[in-house]
Amino acid sequence: AKVTEVEFVKSSNRPKDCPKDDRPEFAMLGRSNVGKSSLINSLVRKKEVALTSKKPGKTQLINHFLVNKSWYIVDLPGYGFANVPEAAKMDWFSFTKGYFLNRGTLVSVLLLVDASVPPQKIDLDCANWLGRNNIPLTFVFTKCDKRKGGKGKRPDDNIRSFLQLIREYYKQQPPWIMSSSVTGIGRNELLLHMSQLRNY
Ligand code: GDP
Repeated sequence: AKVTEVEFVKSSNRPKDCPKDDRPEFAMLGRSNVGKSSLINSLVRKKEVALTSKKPGKTQLINHFLVNKSWYIVDLPGYGFANVPEAAKMDWFSFTKGYFLNRGTLVSVLLLVDASVPPQKIDLDCANWLGRNNIPLTFVFTKCDKRKGGKGKRPDDNIRSFLQLIREYYKQQPPWIMSSSVTGIGRNELLLHMSQLRNY
């Protein structure tokens, strides 16, 4: 499960503008600041590959990166900007919803969840929606190197609480991986996991 080559393919404004070939893809999703760009850069071992705009209100784009000429990492816009009005939040949802429901080549969503903070409602809501719509999902807990979370909780405790809270949304617990872009833990596990899912 080695990454030998990564190529930025395109930014799409709408789900229907996404690449039309049938290569499998994994969509990265999470609250803004969760560590998504850092994780993508760590996976592909390149700096500044993930060029997504971080400013709220900017055009939201679906970014396709082709790995080893055979599968895609898709960078979706982050959700949950603290200072964005309710209308813009709905906008994010209508934007990404169409993508999840209609993207036949989507192998799994990688939902990034910050392990350094206690479970957040917006992440639970997102997990709930994906679960109810039977979208295949893998949780990637980020920032697991932060041994102390904001409120003094450790990542392990935050992860355990989160997995407990999402139990009612799923018949079977989705797979989950602990990661850190600082120490690199979880990187190989995540690459291996994605390669196994592709080969099903
Ligand atoms: P994005 O908005 O989801 O793309 O998040 P970024 O990748 O830009 O990261 C947001 C902030 O979290 C930055 O200050 C990063 O340095 C920090 N960060 C990202 N990943 C990690 C991690 O694994 N561990 C720690 N300790 N900090 C991280």
